[in-house]
Amino acid sequence: MSDSPLTPQLIRLGCRPAGKEAAIREAGAMLADAGRIAPDYIDSLLRREAVANTYLGHSIAIPHGMVEDRSLVLRTGVAVLQIPDGLEWNPGQRIHLLFAIAARSDDHLVMLRQLTRLLQDEARLLPLFHTADPAELIAALEPSVADPLPDGEAQDLDHGQEWRLDYPNGLHARPASLWSEAARRSPARLQVRHGGRTADAKNLLSLLQLGLRHGDLVSVSARGPQAEAGVDLLLKAMREASLAEQTAAAIAAQRAGARKTVGWQPAGAPLSLPGVAASPGLAIGTVRVLAGEQLQVPDRPISLAEGGDRLHQALADTRRQLSQLADATQATLGAAEAGIFRAQAELLNDTDLITLSCQLMVAGHGVEWSWHQAVERLAEKISALGNPMLAARAADLRDVGRRVLLQLDPSLQTRASTDFGPDTLLLAADLAPSDTAALDLSRIKGLATAHGGPTAHTAILARTLGLPALVAAGSALLDVADGSPAILDGDAGRLYLNPSDADLDSARDWQRRQRDERDKQQAQRQQAGQTADGRRIEIAANINRPDQAAAALDAGAEGVGLMRTEFLFLEREAAPDEEEQLATYLAMQQALQGRPLIVRALDIGGDKQVPYLNLPREDNPFLGMRGARLLLSRRELLEPQLRALYRAAKAGKPLSIMFPMISSLKEITRLKGLCEGVRKELDAPQLPIGIMVEVPAAALLADQFAPYVDFFSIGTNDLTQYALAMDRQHPELAAEADSLHPAVLRLIRQTVEGAAAHKRWVGVCGGLAGDPHGAAVLAGLGVDELSMSPNDIAAVKAMLRRHDHARLRELAEQALACDSAEEVRQLLEGLA
Ligand code: PEP
Ligand code: MG
Repeated sequence: MSDSPLTPQLIRLGCRPAGKEAAIREAGAMLADAGRIAPDYIDSLLRREAVANTYLGHSIAIPHGMVEDRSLVLRTGVAVLQIPDGLEWNPGQRIHLLFAIAARSDDHLVMLRQLTRLLQDEARLLPLFHTADPAELIAALEPSVADPLPDGEAQDLDHGQEWRLDYPNGLHARPASLWSEAARRSPARLQVRHGGRTADAKNLLSLLQLGLRHGDLVSVSARGPQAEAGVDLLLKAMREASLAEQTAAAIAAQRAGARKTVGWQPAGAPLSLPGVAASPGLAIGTVRVLAGEQLQVPDRPISLAEGGDRLHQALADTRRQLSQLADATQATLGAAEAGIFRAQAELLNDTDLITLSCQLMVAGHGVEWSWHQAVERLAEKISALGNPMLAARAADLRDVGRRVLLQLDPSLQTRASTDFGPDTLLLAADLAPSDTAALDLSRIKGLATAHGGPTAHTAILARTLGLPALVAAGSALLDVADGSPAILDGDAGRLYLNPSDADLDSARDWQRRQRDERDKQQAQRQQAGQTADGRRIEIAANINRPDQAAAALDAGAEGVGLMRTEFLFLEREAAPDEEEQLATYLAMQQALQGRPLIVRALDIGGDKQVPYLNLPREDNPFLGMRGARLLLSRRELLEPQLRALYRAAKAGKPLSIMFPMISSLKEITRLKGLCEGVRKELDAPQLPIGIMVEVPAAALLADQFAPYVDFFSIGTNDLTQYALAMDRQHPELAAEADSLHPAVLRLIRQTVEGAAAHKRWVGVCGGLAGDPHGAAVLAGLGVDELSMSPNDIAAVKAMLRRHDHARLRELAEQALACDSAEEVRQLLEGLA
C-alpha cells in the first residue's frame, strides 16, 4: 500500500489555505514529509504555475513540477487538499480539490485517468468536496475496473453474485442505462464481469462494450463502502428490467407479424435490395450514394491543462447547442423527436469517452485528435458487437462526437456535399440524425441506409419528415451505381433497382392516387369540421406565434386551441415583460380576426427548461415543479402574463385562458383567484378559464372540477406519459407510448362524462387529435373540439366527414374494450 501514489497520510481534509501559493506549499510539504520529494521540488511546483494553468476544470487543480526537476521526486506521490469553502485558483476559477502530483515516471497516469473520469461524474465528484472520510477519496481514485486487463485475468471484487441475462435482445442501451443509474446510487465500486471481460457498472458505454447476449452468465461484484448492498441494488435493477424487456420484445414480434401486406406491388420482378421498413411512402428517383466522409483530424499537442479546459468548454457548448436543437425540434417536429437530441446530450456525460480522450492527451496528443480517436474507438467497439440496437447508439455517438469536434475546431466542418439533383434517393452507410433533420426535402425524395435500425433516431426523424425510408439494407446498398434509376418502397422496406417502364408507370400511378386523395382533402380543408351526419367538431390549430396564424387559417384552422406561451420564453436571455407579451397577444388576436383563441399560461418544467429562470435541478422534473405548480410558486412569472392577457382582452378581441398540469381543485381555485384579482385591478372583462387534463387525477375528478372551470382541454401527450408511466421523450418508448392505449381512452371518456354533467365542453390539444384515426375515436368519445398542428387539419377533417357520429361512437366503445393500443390500431385500420 505504501507504494501507492496516494495514501491516507497524503490526504488532508477541511483545509483553508490563505491563497494559491499557500495551498501549493502545504501540499508540497505533505509530499516532502511523506518522503516522496526533496523539499526543493516545492519551488518547482510553484514555477510551473508561472508558465501554465494547472486548473483542470470542475473545481479541481493539478499542480505538478517542471519536467527538468524530476530528479527531485524520490517516489511518485500525490498529495490531496480538500478545500470545502473553495479557493480562487485563477481569476474566475475556484477549486475544492487540489491534487499535487510528483511523478517519477508515468506511474501516476492510472490515477490521473481515474481523476479525469471523475470530472464528468458529478454524482461521485461533488460529495468528495465535503466528505469527512479520506477512504472515499482513495476509493474514487483507485484504478477503475474498466481499465483493461489481459484476457483471462479478469477477477471479481470482494463481494459478488452471479446472474443470467434473460433480456431477449441482450443488453442494449436502455436497460444498460438503468444498470448504470442504479450502480451510481451506491458508494461502492461495482463491476460486471462476463468471462474474461469486466465493465465498470457505473459506466454505460463500458457496460455496452461487454456485448452481453440473452443467456449470458454475468458476475456482479463490489468493493468498498456498502459493497454488499451495492451488489443487491444493482441486481435488483437488472432483474426489474427483465419484464419490460420481455414485453417489448413480444410487442415487437407481434407488430412484425401484423405488418400490412397491402401497398404498392411491382408489375414485373425488378432486381431489389431488401432492408427494413423505416418510414412509409413510395419514392421514385435517381440513386445518389453518399461516400463515407473521412475526417482528417490534425494532431496538435498542447498542455494537458489547456486541453482539458478546451474539452470541458466544448462539451459545455455542445450540451447547450443540443438543448437548443431539442427545443427547436420540439417546436417543429414534436417531443419524441426532440428527445433524440436530449438522449445524445446524455452520451456526452460518458466517463469512458472523457477518460480515453484525456488519456490520449496525457500521452501527448492534441485535444481534437484525442477526442476524435476516443469517439471512433468507442463507436467501433459498440458497432462491432453486432447488435442492431447498439449500432444505432454508435451512430448517435459519432454524430454528437462531430459536434464537439466542431466546437473545438470549426475548420473541421466537412459536411457531405449538398448539391443533390432533383428526385434524389439518398443511399448512405448511415446518416446522422442531425444530417437527416437538415436534408433538403425539395430534392431528396427517399432515404436508404446500409446500417441503422427502425428504432434509430434517423428513422424516427424520417417518419416525422414524411420521407420514405428503409434501413439496414447491408453493405450491398453502397455498391449500387450512382445515377441508377430506382423505386424506394418505405412500407415494404425495399429498394427496386433499374425498374422497367411498366413498374415505373404503376409506381407513378400509385403515387398519383395517393396524391389525389391528399389533394381532395386539401381542396376541402376550409369546410367546417363535422361528421358525415353533421355533428360539429371544431378544428383548431396549435400555434405559438402570431406569424404562424395566417398559415394555420390557410390550412383550415377555425381558431387556435392551444397557444403554447412558453415558446415566447425560450431561446432568449430574459423573460419577455408585460408589454412585450401584450404586443404578442394583441398581434395573435389581430391575425385571427375574432376567431377563438385559447392561450395557455406558461408551461415550464419537465421537458421545457428555461435556463435563465434558474429553476432548481430536480431528479424527476416530470414529476416536479412544472406547469400550474410552478406558476403558483413563481408569481413574478404568472402575474405579468395574466396582466398582459387581460389587457389584451380589454383592448382587443376576447380570448380564453388555460392552465397546464392541473391536478387538484386547490390549484384551480388559487389560479382563478389570481385571475380575478388582476381582472378587477384592470377593470377587464371576464374571460373563460379552462384547464388542461394532462394528469390522470384531473381526468378522474373531472366531474368535481367541472363546476369551477369553463372548459377542459385534454393534453394527450402528457396524459399518456403519466397514465402509462412512459417518458414522452424516450426514443425507445416513443412507439409504445401510444395515446390510443385503452387506459388513456378511458380517462378521456371519464373527462367527457364529468364535463357533460355540468355542460362544459371538452377539447383535445395533444398529438392524438392530429392523428386521423385518433380524431375519429375522440369524436366518438364525445369530444367537442380538436386542436392540432396545422399540417394535420385537412386529413382529420376528411376523416370526420367520411363517417357518421353513430359509427364513430360504436368504434369508440369497441376501442374502450380493447386491451392494448395495438388492438385499437388494428380495429381502426379498416377505417378508410
Ligand atoms: C399535451 O401534453 O398533450 C400538450 C398538448 O401539452 P404539451 O405537449 O405542450 O406538454
Ligand atoms: Mg402537456
